[in-house]
Amino acid sequence: MNWRVALSDLDFDNREKQAVQKVLDSRWLTMGQRTERFEGAFAEYLGVKHAIAVSNATVGLHLANLAVGVGPGDEVILPSLTFVATANAVLYAGARPVFVDISSESDFGISAGAIEAAITPQTKAICVMHYGGYLCDMPAILALAEELGLALIEDAAHAPGSKMEDRHAGTMGDVGVFSFFSSKNLAVGEGGMVTTDDDELAKQIRLMRSHGMTSLTWDRHRGHAHSYDVVALGYNYRIDEVRSALGLVQLEKLEASNRRRREVSEFYRSRLSELDGLSIPYMQHPGISAAHLFPVLLDPEVDRIEFMEAMKEQGVQTSIHYPPVHSFSYYREWFGEVSLPVTEVVGSREVTLPLYSSMTDEQVGIVVDAVERALEHGR
Ligand SMILES: *Cc1c(COP(=O)(O)O)cnc(C)c1O
Repeated sequence: MNWRVALSDLDFDNREKQAVQKVLDSRWLTMGQRTERFEGAFAEYLGVKHAIAVSNATVGLHLANLAVGVGPGDEVILPSLTFVATANAVLYAGARPVFVDISSESDFGISAGAIEAAITPQTKAICVMHYGGYLCDMPAILALAEELGLALIEDAAHAPGSKMEDRHAGTMGDVGVFSFFSSKNLAVGEGGMVTTDDDELAKQIRLMRSHGMTSLTWDRHRGHAHSYDVVALGYNYRIDEVRSALGLVQLEKLEASNRRRREVSEFYRSRLSELDGLSIPYMQHPGISAAHLFPVLLDPEVDRIEFMEAMKEQGVQTSIHYPPVHSFSYYREWFGEVSLPVTEVVGSREVTLPLYSSMTDEQVGIVVDAVERALEHGR
């Protein structure tokens, strides 16, 4: 499709090209100096002690679950209104995902009250997801985790740069996980980062990232080690130098690019909140959002398929975040019917509008006009 306004777009220029060229010229392709620099720069940006780069956020979530000790017989409480990988990672670790509802139709983050109600003696961890870059109710969730001695994982795939009172998303729980997939705020194609302030967790995550081996090819290349031992059943969840080089450039752009995303979101809010036929979540939200997504909630009488078709006819791409995980065939087979009323309302009426940092004012205007027409069409 040749969209007038696509759902997302990269913010790449010559700097990314040069960074990749330098890696190729250096003749060192896998985890090395650039990966170390990317990890260091990311940790410094967030104000966290350890940042461990990985192949993608899905494997990062797997490592996070393993590191905090999630295993067979355990339960992990998480939202269903998330990307399926959040839940798959719990299954990879051999544990059972327990889906709970989100806060409300204007705050799509996991509900602290629902978490509390779902706790059992088997509960090992809570995994929150900061939808669209908007932080979950972290004060309440942190207090709950602390009181009950539960591990807290943050799926911060949408939230690099989101913060509240100077604390970044991905640094509040025990482990944070970021995604650098092509459509995310910081894009390298495939990549991710795991963050923690805990030395022991960091050590475990580094070990499991590379086959449970006690030294890396890079260490041996630098003459720091001659051999290695294998002390755990690990994986190859490493990143490479090309992607770390892209990540370093993208990280430099992140603050400005998130600012533009917030500006576009504010403009959408001011124009779209006047319209009949939809409502807009996060109209009042504390903290600073990385503004990864711009979701709207259609009124019940607006047909979502017709609305999205009408947008498409005007050249504007839209999407749905998300079909709830508990509604997928695979999960229904495993866990049977689960009832999550607010998640189901949002899952059936949400539409995501285009949002990316290189969006022009003209493109934002095209989307707003298209929404107005699509709403007339859809009712
Ligand atoms: C993108 C995403 C992931 C998975 O990230 P990958 O890097 O593609 O593995 C996990 N959780 C959420 C909420 C995401 O949006």
